[in-house]
Amino acid sequence: MPGKNVSSAASLSASEVELRDELRADVEKLAGEIGERTMARYPQLNAAADFIENSFSRAGLQTRRDSYDLHGRACYNIEAKIPAAPGAAAPLAKPFGVSKPPSIILIGAHYDSVLGSPGANDNGSGVAAMLALARRFAGKPAQHTLRFVAFVNEEPPYFLSEQMGSFVYAGRCKTRGDQISAMISLETIGYFSDAPHSQTYPAPGLGVFYPSVGNFIGFVSNVPSRNLLRRAIALFRKHAKIPSEGAALPAFIPGVSWSDQWSFWQHGYPGIMVTDTAPFRYPHYHSATDTPDKLDYHRFALVVSGMEKVIQALAIAPR
Ligand SMILES: [Zn+2]
Repeated sequence: MPGKNVSSAASLSASEVELRDELRADVEKLAGEIGERTMARYPQLNAAADFIENSFSRAGLQTRRDSYDLHGRACYNIEAKIPAAPGAAAPLAKPFGVSKPPSIILIGAHYDSVLGSPGANDNGSGVAAMLALARRFAGKPAQHTLRFVAFVNEEPPYFLSEQMGSFVYAGRCKTRGDQISAMISLETIGYFSDAPHSQTYPAPGLGVFYPSVGNFIGFVSNVPSRNLLRRAIALFRKHAKIPSEGAALPAFIPGVSWSDQWSFWQHGYPGIMVTDTAPFRYPHYHSATDTPDKLDYHRFALVVSGMEKVIQALAIAPR
């Protein structure tokens, strides 16, 4: 039942109530109205792309379609950018007389769903969060550029392959020489439970160190991204009103690479995933029952509100 766990969670401020309602509306649009979004349902995949593009535009953001061809059909990553404030570049040592260019903080979420699933939590939740964050940063240039990107084709059969939207996108970033200092992948972030043993782990040893109740949000990275992970989780804990757990783990541990951050790791960029841990907690993972009513929008809003503070701080000084 939706909202059954609300009593144990911190209360929402007025702006978090607004945020909660935005998140719910966008998850309902993607998973309720549009539904399954895959190459097998190409019109629905494109309806989701259009919806995301329009949402960025309505927030006053400039959008760009990053397209590539798959099986003779065009696929689109949808991007919105908030360029760094003019003159915001950090000056290098005096004798060189040059400025270090601002780096890029990239917030991404995949908008496709797995075959046969409406994808409310996976990953309507990540897209709704990404859109809500983009609205909150629109018109507020910081010292570093913010990029919000909705990725296509994350799910199988493209999962962890060169055909993933994010893999194509990250490769183009590398070719252009884009200085991405942080990639944050929002992946399945809307389900929480207070039930005993509601949280499981991909490796048996991890259960010794981490909670057995699925009432927290997880931050995960590979080992080379551990500094970004530590920074992000420290900032989150300073501001957020929901418990969090973090782990920098070898990428071969099941789950660690399971989203678009993997594509950025492959191109040498630091990246983290924010997640409710999906298959290790969510009973409706990758199934036809991953519908909008399964999400806990109250705690989901607490997560996104915390992430707003994390991104705000990173956009001033990412390292
Ligand atoms: Zn996913």
